[in-house]
Amino acid sequence: MNTEVTIATLGSHSALQILKGAKDEGFRTVLICLRKRLKLYSRFKKLIDEMIIVDSFSEVIFKEVQNKLLNLNSILIPHGSLVEYVSLEDIENNFKVPIFGNKYILRWESDRKLKDKLLREAGVRTPEVYSSLDEVNDIVIVKLPGAKGGKGYFLASSPEEIRKKVKSLKIDEKDIFIQKYIVGTPTYIHFFYSPLSDELEVISMDRRYETNSDGLGRIPADVQLKSKIDLSYLVIGNFPIVLRESLLEEIFEIGDDLIKASKKLVSPGFIGPFCIEGTYDGTGSFYVFEFSARIVAGTNVFINGSPYTWLLYDEPMSMGKRIAKEIKKALEEGKIKELIT
Ligand code: ATP
Repeated sequence: MNTEVTIATLGSHSALQILKGAKDEGFRTVLICLRKRLKLYSRFKKLIDEMIIVDSFSEVIFKEVQNKLLNLNSILIPHGSLVEYVSLEDIENNFKVPIFGNKYILRWESDRKLKDKLLREAGVRTPEVYSSLDEVNDIVIVKLPGAKGGKGYFLASSPEEIRKKVKSLKIDEKDIFIQKYIVGTPTYIHFFYSPLSDELEVISMDRRYETNSDGLGRIPADVQLKSKIDLSYLVIGNFPIVLRESLLEEIFEIGDDLIKASKKLVSPGFIGPFCIEGTYDGTGSFYVFEFSARIVAGTNVFINGSPYTWLLYDEPMSMGKRIAKEIKKALEEGKIKELIT
């Protein structure tokens, strides 16, 4: 067996950044690649030492795939595609390859009740949730069960509108999640928490470019009124954001509060990258509606570093490289067990 650690990830989401960061820090890399994506990732072959080819990401829990990863002494870096395409039960119970971070917290980002519990424990400001449809008297966003990437979410401002839409979608009224819609500036903050130094870093920030909700402003209101547009929040790409410096303090406080809450509710809490997703309203108050407990794709904007990492590091620093740096440090200090589950 190879005694050197290999950095592994699934070929999608933020894989290129993770591979590049690992290479920059001197690690060998292995990519679990979908057969249909081979051509794409082969274009970046200088970042990849080994490929494990699969037909579906769910195969990552198959014995043969796990054995290959274990033989390479892999640490798997989880990202959005792992959470989306591999069952959490399998990740928690049937996956023997070490995962960077706390794999048990991934469930908390996927389950709406657990997510709310953690946000509430942290005491962060969240948009009001309507327990009854009849209470709605303002713009709300209606979230559907099991939706991915905001698929099928719709906006409404009265109980009648919601009932009509729910009926046309053939879903059960009791399954919908109704949240006040925060009109303002969507902002996604990418944190890195180092258990080795007990320090929280703001790595970068982004705004998503979402179709077709971001396209609506290009259509004059009178044309909008006559057309039938089904809102979509499918993420197409990301823009960089730099916050007003006076807003940074609150962001660090939210990050600190989330770390504290995560340690209490799902020990050992957040490890490495996590992200909060929210909107600043017209008064500049930040409402958090989501968190992700692993690297988010918005960090891809900053493969060459962000203004914030430039303040902390004298070298270009991506989230992928920051992860690799932490693993390298832990290996040198004999503390790798603190970073993996
Ligand atoms: P992902 O898992 O990719 O984050 P998701 O299915 O969990 O997606 P959300 O991130 O909750 O979906 O929402 C999708 C989009 O809807 C957000 O990026 C944001 O633009 C918008 N959105 C969600 N909740 C609110 C809210 N309360 N107020 C304003 N906008 C919102």
